[in-house]
Amino acid sequence: MREEVRSIAMRAKGFLVEAEGMSLYRLAVEISGSGPCLEIGSYCGRSALFLGEGCRERGRYPLFTVDHHEGSAEQQPGQPYFDPDLYDAAEGVTTTLQALRRNIRLAGLQDWVIPIVAASVRLGRYWPPATLSLVFIDGGHSEADAFGDYETWAPTIKPGGYLCIHDIHPDPADGGQAPYHVLQRARAEGAWDHLGTVDTLAILRRQ
Ligand code: MG
Repeated sequence: MREEVRSIAMRAKGFLVEAEGMSLYRLAVEISGSGPCLEIGSYCGRSALFLGEGCRERGRYPLFTVDHHEGSAEQQPGQPYFDPDLYDAAEGVTTTLQALRRNIRLAGLQDWVIPIVAASVRLGRYWPPATLSLVFIDGGHSEADAFGDYETWAPTIKPGGYLCIHDIHPDPADGGQAPYHVLQRARAEGAWDHLGTVDTLAILRRQ
């Protein structure tokens, strides 16, 4: 991984730790020759730069990164993850799209990271099955959002492709449980091999 891209990624606003980012980068290098990667929850682009750099290095398919860019429920004014830098006071909305585009540009990854502004489940309805080499779920953390993303996007992953889920907290004292519940569901379905978990990033492979 190019040092300057790693550095830009880690300076971007975000919640992914470097070990998780490097895991995503390595998976993208390995698998993106067989189909595009797709991320749900771009935020300001930290993980998109790790995945996109892996796609660039492999040199075949890009990363699509999907977000409505209005921030999650916990990022709204008065909520614990509100960030005034990302609030458009004139419009009265949280907006992360400008930061994402800036970080893609700084990293020189415009050809490899393709932003899509959309609610992930709405977009996923029209996405053809078994076309993606990797899906990274890091969107809304409510049970409805997390299961909606899993149920919508899991069928788009090719056999042998990866499903990555962020913010796995088996202990409720460490964080919200919805991503962990999705991991439990996926493991119970028997169609995936759980290869392991790096920090809070679960990695599964479709059989
Ligand atoms: Mg996350």
